Amino acid sequence: MWVGIVSCMPELVQGALQDGVVSRAIASGRIDLEFFNPRDHAKNAYGSVDDRPFGGGPGMLMMAEPLAQSTESARLKANTANLKTIYLTPQGERLGQSRVEELATNKALVLVAGRYEGVDERFVDECVDLQISIGDYVLSGGELPALVLLDAIARQIDGTLGNEKSRCDDSFVDNLLEGPQYTRPGTWRGRDVPEVLVSGNHSEIERWRHEQALLRTWLRRPDLLTHRNLSEEDQVWLEKQSLKNPNGEN
Ligand code: SAM
Repeated sequence: MWVGIVSCMPELVQGALQDGVVSRAIASGRIDLEFFNPRDHAKNAYGSVDDRPFGGGPGMLMMAEPLAQSTESARLKANTANLKTIYLTPQGERLGQSRVEELATNKALVLVAGRYEGVDERFVDECVDLQISIGDYVLSGGELPALVLLDAIARQIDGTLGNEKSRCDDSFVDNLLEGPQYTRPGTWRGRDVPEVLVSGNHSEIERWRHEQALLRTWLRRPDLLTHRNLSEEDQVWLEKQSLKNPNGEN
């Protein structure tokens, strides 16, 4: 996948790519990452890309033209119609796993990071296909959100994870959270791992893991279960749990 990041602070992204899944995806050629700096299209010698908002108000806004020129350079470089231009903004669609999986099927993405108090709305109208938020809080710039999105997408690209199977059990796949997990030692500070996990009975282990995932999802994120078709067996099992634990305490 080709990814272009439009940012005035590319060092913020580059600094976080010294190690990890995205950096390995880049090293192995699965992700081809390039940066496009709106300051390269500034009209003055200071490299200004911001100006005061019309109508007054605090702070500065990113001007449409330098952003548009760097976004258009990125789109040209991507050289494919299978491309989405995404503006990271707290006002966008809240990022979820199904969107991540859908975006991972694109050949190219252009991720636009805002700064200051945001961007001139005409840039969004003219150049952006999709607006994405990483949560209901405001960060100082779109670089960290772009990294978050890139990491989540990189995990979906074949060959980027040490063990491909691990992403099948990840939280949010099939609208379930992953259940509790344990590693050595078998007893730690007087706490034993659940017996079934050391039983060697693989079908029982599978069933236990599935039930724990169901239970954890029901306790912590019941909203996810409304998007999942529960089997009869799962429904019966969950009903039993809700009788045991009517307040849904974890
Ligand atoms: N004044 C804007 C507002 O209230 O919507 C917030 C601007 S914020 C200080 C600067 C930039 O950070 C935004 O243009 C956006 O690119 C990025 N940003 C901040 N919070 C974000 C979030 N939750 N998700 C995605 N991007 C975010």
